[in-house]
Amino acid sequence: MVYSYSKINRYLRCPRSYRYRYLDGWREKDTRAAMVFGRCFERVLGAYFEQRDCTAALFKEWEAFRDAPFEYRRGESWDRLLHQGVHLLEKFVREERVCIRRPHENLQRKITRTLEGDDQFVSYIDAIGELDGRRCLIDWKTTTSRYSDGPEGLLSLDPQLICYSWISGIPDVALVVFVRKQIPEIQYLRATISEEQRKEFGRLAETTIHQLESGHFSRHSGIRFPNNGCVSCPHLGLCLDNQRLIETDLIRRPGASDLDWLDELSD
Ligand code: SF4
Repeated sequence: MVYSYSKINRYLRCPRSYRYRYLDGWREKDTRAAMVFGRCFERVLGAYFEQRDCTAALFKEWEAFRDAPFEYRRGESWDRLLHQGVHLLEKFVREERVCIRRPHENLQRKITRTLEGDDQFVSYIDAIGELDGRRCLIDWKTTTSRYSDGPEGLLSLDPQLICYSWISGIPDVALVVFVRKQIPEIQYLRATISEEQRKEFGRLAETTIHQLESGHFSRHSGIRFPNNGCVSCPHLGLCLDNQRLIETDLIRRPGASDLDWLDELSD
């Protein structure tokens, strides 16, 4: 079996959602404009590091979705997202804080680790490079609201960054957050992951894989205020047997589980 951060994370959040997604093949439809735009934007960062015209690359990537039947949030449109993306790219180029040498090798870097029993764990790390001259692994995020940057050290608890640090062995990690708002902002957040945290993640991954291979997929609902995990869960329609929600949010593609680790690319 091939495992990834996305799979482990989904099982830990709710085993039933894992079963719906990875065993029964229920996937979320790509109808949210912001999510698809975020993927386009992050691909375009590669054009910048390869010294190509990144504004033209963004237009070309996003152009493919001009007439797609997306859901736009209030105040958003195809044009508005493009303009926000262009402003963020210009700011990123001006600030020159991130350097990626040999972008062909160090962007979307695939790292595989063999686990007990020949299972594989695969991660795609957005970039390995330098932030303000210091080597680190980097994860890009595109969002409409700022990430919390305090209290100090908060980012060192981010489970995805801990996973990437574990699989790569690189202790210094960073999030570069592109905030799409009235005045565009880029956050450069850094953290250091300790050896103990990396070992702990390795143990967590092994334990979680044992649990999910034992075939228990009970519901782990989170309906208590204020963090209701079920409300943002794509599989809510299945749990509530609500046909309208199922048809709106999901598409079923069973039988392709060998490629499920590719989810990692969009996380
Ligand atoms: S709706 Fe809630 S209980 Fe059902 S799969 Fe999603 S998180 Fe789990």
